[in-house]
Amino acid sequence: MNDTIHMEQAVEIVCIVCPNGCRILCKPSGDGASFSGYRCKRGIEYATAELTRPMRSLTTSVKTVFPDSPVVSVRTDGEIEKSRIREVAFALGRIMIDRRLKTGDVVAENICNTGVNVICTSDRLVHPY
Ligand code: SF4
Repeated sequence: MNDTIHMEQAVEIVCIVCPNGCRILCKPSGDGASFSGYRCKRGIEYATAELTRPMRSLTTSVKTVFPDSPVVSVRTDGEIEKSRIREVAFALGRIMIDRRLKTGDVVAENICNTGVNVICTSDRLVHPY
């Protein structure tokens, strides 16, 4: 994985690591980038990751075979590369849950070989509304 920053123009990235939401201005500088507007070094780490290998968690829903709960909410138990979100969402769209899973149960292990599991985030299947 090449994590070198290649920038051609300045970009502003809003840091979402904490509620301060600093607006970090990233400018091309030499072989990398310079940063301003951050209040702590976690902002630099976040902006660097956003410029090189942005990661995201995915929260969505998955279909089930149960008429009382035709869909159930799920999320990844870690972050995956932003560029793979669509692939993972598509894979989840093809899953049909046929077990009464509860919160925390694994819906899909190592989804799309990302090293991340998708877990159930609701008890709706064990306690239908
Ligand atoms: S730069 Fe630091 S203070 Fe600002 S939002 Fe990011 S984590 Fe919070």
